[in-house]
Amino acid sequence: MCRTRSGLTGLEPDEKIKTLKGVDRREFMGFCATIAATLGLSPAFVPRIAEAVEGAAKKPSVIWLHFQECTGDSEAFLCSSYPSVEELVLNILSVDYQETIMAASGTQAEDALKKAMADNKGKYLVIVEGAIPMGTPPGPGGKPGAFCTIGGKTAYDLAKEVTAGAAAVICVGTCASFGGVQAQRPNPTGAVGVGDALGIPTINIPGCPHNAINSVATIVNYLLLGSLPKTDRHGRPLFAFAKRIHDHCPRRAHFDAGQYVERFGDDGAKKNWCLYKMGCKGPQTYHNCSLVEYNDGTSWPIKGGHGCVGCSEPDFWDTMQPFYERLPNIHVPGVEATADKVGFTLVGAAAAGAAVHAAYTFANRHKIGETDKKEGE
Ligand code: SF4
Repeated sequence: MCRTRSGLTGLEPDEKIKTLKGVDRREFMGFCATIAATLGLSPAFVPRIAEAVEGAAKKPSVIWLHFQECTGDSEAFLCSSYPSVEELVLNILSVDYQETIMAASGTQAEDALKKAMADNKGKYLVIVEGAIPMGTPPGPGGKPGAFCTIGGKTAYDLAKEVTAGAAAVICVGTCASFGGVQAQRPNPTGAVGVGDALGIPTINIPGCPHNAINSVATIVNYLLLGSLPKTDRHGRPLFAFAKRIHDHCPRRAHFDAGQYVERFGDDGAKKNWCLYKMGCKGPQTYHNCSLVEYNDGTSWPIKGGHGCVGCSEPDFWDTMQPFYERLPNIHVPGVEATADKVGFTLVGAAAAGAAVHAAYTFANRHKIGETDKKEGE
């Protein structure tokens, strides 16, 4: 068990919130308003969200599994500072197993996992961080999936066992969602996302790392409505992944006006012009970064002057490369060239260019796949 909240029975809700979470009422309601906005709900839902968070009679049990990853998603989740999101969430959830932050280790940790599964069968949430390797290490005695083992079990066996009794499986980060960096060609360990590995539906919250506000909003959605949010075909919640970054980018006016950064540090960069020519993949990346930003709304890559690399898209390590080259076959206008017309034309051009890029990538991957096959023969 990571956190406890003993000795708080009998406190009034306001008092309880203050005592439990270390935030005052105003901050707490600000948190609820942020969640409502992230979920695309009207402000009228704010009191209901507060009620759902405050009134959770029994904290849902959470089992958080780590596989092939860098722990960036735990960091992103736990290092949120405003308004103490991690405190709020860890106090409304019973995080019964999380290797990074739990005090227990070895047998004690394994026992905690077994107990959480037995006590909450069919009701616990599984959050997964990291990809699952399906390949077999070379050499004698190599066992399928043995590139990643925990407590003597492969990631695949462990994930299968733990998710079997879960109410829902939430993948945080691009690795758990789609395989991530270890799945990049030539993918030596055969890494895949959790849904692909186990053949089960998962809620995927990709990003490298994922944005903690989106995982928190997913959990609050579950507490509020007793169900998980609607998703797109990649399992990504629609509240966060229905729109392209480009659609709400604060630099979009410069894209439409044909005002581009030509190299880092130039005049355009100083004026916050569009990063399309620096390789920005915002026109083909679905994510709400431009609306909610990262680190509690502090900043995000494009605000910091770096183009989007498309980290929430499946296989982005392959399909979005080279990161510093613009999407091919998109006509870029001259500065201030009939802004309305340019904007209108480029939307179509961007879509066409994205399609060409995808076709190019597919053909390239197919070719590489053939090469790999030949090499393996
Ligand atoms: S290309 Fe990138 S920087 Fe330019 S408007 Fe689109 S998302 Fe923003």
